[in-house]
Amino acid sequence: MARLPATGKLSAVSSVRRRLLVKGTVQGVGFRPFAYRLATALGLAGCVWNTPEGVVVEVEGKAEGVAEFQERLSVEAPPLARIAEVKAEELPPTGESGFRIIRSAAGERPTASIPPDVAVCEECAREIGEREDRRFGYPFTNCTNCGPRFTIVLGIPYDRPQTTMSGFDMCLRCRAEYTNPEDRRFHAEPVACEECGPSLLLDGRPAPDGIAQGARLLAGGKVVAVKGMGGYHLACDARNSSAVETLRTRKGRGQKPFAIMVRDLEEAQRVAEVSGRAAAMLTSPESPVVIMPARPGSGLASGIAPRQATVGVMLPYTPLHRLLMSQSPAALVMTSGNLAEEPIEHRDEEARRKLGPISDHILSHNREIAVPCDDSVVRVEGDLVIPVRRARGYVPRSVAVDIAGPPALAMGGHHKNTFCLLREGEAILSQHIGDLDTEEVLDYFGRAIQHFQRLFEVRPEVVAHDLHPGYLSTQYAQALEGVRLVPVQHHHAHVVSVMAELGLPGPVIGVSYDGTGYGSDGTAWGGEILIADRRDFKRAMHLRPVPMPGGEGAVRRPARMGLSHLIAAFGVDEGLHQARRLMPHLSDAEARVVARQIERGINCPLTSSMGRFFDAVAALLGASAEVTYEGQPAMELEAMASGVVGDAGQPGKLLPHELGPYPYELGDGIIDVRPTVRAIVGELENGAPMAEIAARFHETVAAFTIEACKRLHDQGAPADVVLCGGVMQNARLLARLLDGLRETGLRPHLHREVPPNDGGLSLGQAVVGACRAGSPRPA
Ligand SMILES: [Zn+2]
Ligand SMILES: [Zn+2]
Repeated sequence: MARLPATGKLSAVSSVRRRLLVKGTVQGVGFRPFAYRLATALGLAGCVWNTPEGVVVEVEGKAEGVAEFQERLSVEAPPLARIAEVKAEELPPTGESGFRIIRSAAGERPTASIPPDVAVCEECAREIGEREDRRFGYPFTNCTNCGPRFTIVLGIPYDRPQTTMSGFDMCLRCRAEYTNPEDRRFHAEPVACEECGPSLLLDGRPAPDGIAQGARLLAGGKVVAVKGMGGYHLACDARNSSAVETLRTRKGRGQKPFAIMVRDLEEAQRVAEVSGRAAAMLTSPESPVVIMPARPGSGLASGIAPRQATVGVMLPYTPLHRLLMSQSPAALVMTSGNLAEEPIEHRDEEARRKLGPISDHILSHNREIAVPCDDSVVRVEGDLVIPVRRARGYVPRSVAVDIAGPPALAMGGHHKNTFCLLREGEAILSQHIGDLDTEEVLDYFGRAIQHFQRLFEVRPEVVAHDLHPGYLSTQYAQALEGVRLVPVQHHHAHVVSVMAELGLPGPVIGVSYDGTGYGSDGTAWGGEILIADRRDFKRAMHLRPVPMPGGEGAVRRPARMGLSHLIAAFGVDEGLHQARRLMPHLSDAEARVVARQIERGINCPLTSSMGRFFDAVAALLGASAEVTYEGQPAMELEAMASGVVGDAGQPGKLLPHELGPYPYELGDGIIDVRPTVRAIVGELENGAPMAEIAARFHETVAAFTIEACKRLHDQGAPADVVLCGGVMQNARLLARLLDGLRETGLRPHLHREVPPNDGGLSLGQAVVGACRAGSPRPA
């Protein structure tokens, strides 16, 4: 940055004044007091205030001091600040003395950015553990570096009166901290203490010793609903099998794994193989649930993650959780407090009504949750990080995108819904909303969209939605008035979502392996290799389509996909014969009905889905007959390949490259896996170990994908390969693809924070929508 000469003729010759506009996540993170301390230390005069665009600082003093201030402003910014840009402008010096923090004026239109919720910081954690500290044992301790943010904000600007803390009048000591720029709690909006802040309730009654009582109940095997930061959890002792079973039965959860919360990092290492990367994620300010390889013999109840080789672990991220876990069993199930498939409970009245029958007791508090927000989830295997759900700790942090289109709203998909707002230069993804199947979730979806539009002051002109006419998110978009609708193909949106997060302009080869998504030709796609940019795409390769008996109903009965792939590979008679042999849980009657459906094409849409191909192979290898959560068969298949689940011939990990792929055929635009299915059936006849077959199956998918990408590249496609879709949560497949593509000279790309599953769809939709609605493509 070139320094301009000062223009004020009357001021001292050596004095300059500079205005700095700091953009990014800079409000509610202690930026103004930081600027105050820095300016004061350098002997500069001036002021700092919040504006709708960011934080503005004006500093005046010696040229060297002003230059140093500007440099250190970026380098030494508070831990939670994320500076996107600093714009500097020279002003005439005014001769003022001292440095002032200007409060947000009423009537202004802030705020640039609302920060995500932040896990308890080390200083606050120390205070609640020190007997002589005035916040000893206080579960709602927080400061400028930690505590609730997004989940307590009712409106803008982000100031205490616009949060759910507005009803708590600060005591004199808290107010002194809040108003002192030198204090760690200066303008920490939720600042509180025992005397003036929120307090605990047990079963609806004030309970100053609620933590000790709750811990005793948990140790005694009870199920306790615990109100945290973004909603209620259901908790029980993770080493008490009968408590875990009770919770699973009452919640109606099927086989879906439970997340657990453990006392500290040492305990995490007792239950899981914690890589360095995983430890960093566990202890980060975002503090997500980290899915890691489970450690055998840790004593966790087997009902926590049935037929899985992994376990999802988080550390206590609020003072309440820290205090509870210091007295309770060292590992607790901590699963979202909701009935199956409903949004996480966050309102006290409803929580009592709905969670009452599931839990034995309710430990809550009187700080209201303005916006519900689930725990975020990432999967970590060694250095590989796969985002699974983006919510608490990340939302509403924006993703920078270099698109100057009109403001846009993208509705997301049907499963794992999130939506996305796009305004100049940034995309703001919502928290995980859920599957749009029920009234409750739809209602939550609508309210969240309204809240986001108010909070971020976006009036969308463009609304992007999935091509699927039956999605409720599509119908919601079509009911909006005065906006331009842009339908976006499902797998194209997945690919562009990665491009947007990484700033890839494209074109790219987009490998989008998924459950099913509506294709441009009306069939169900899902095993797609596209050549795509941010506007358009070409379907370059796809899995050879097979019938999906009963349509989406086939998802719950993977054996039907098994039969469909057997019939494709062997014909009807031999296919039926193999099905009876390999999938005994598929009754004769059901098999015959499904075969007739396939032969006559009754309610049998064609699908090229990779997810359904995984289902089919999982069924042949004896995975669970009934699917109770999305992706279950593929997750069981991956667990089988690691030798943990099923009749593993050799325990321990098999090296995939020693096993080689099964045969397949790459035709003109078609990946034909009939030879693969025939080979797997042959292996089963020969009594090969399940672990080996499962591992070689993964190797096969990697091999044909790499070969297809290489062929496309040889034909002139770019070397950048984007890997996305729900199937890319499979760490074994992903690791092989990354290695193999690099060996071939191609450049694979993955999401960093945004999930590759349908939770990341809205980002891609928003960008495609804005690109298509913007200026027409240059020739
Ligand atoms: Zn703190
Ligand atoms: Zn107080």
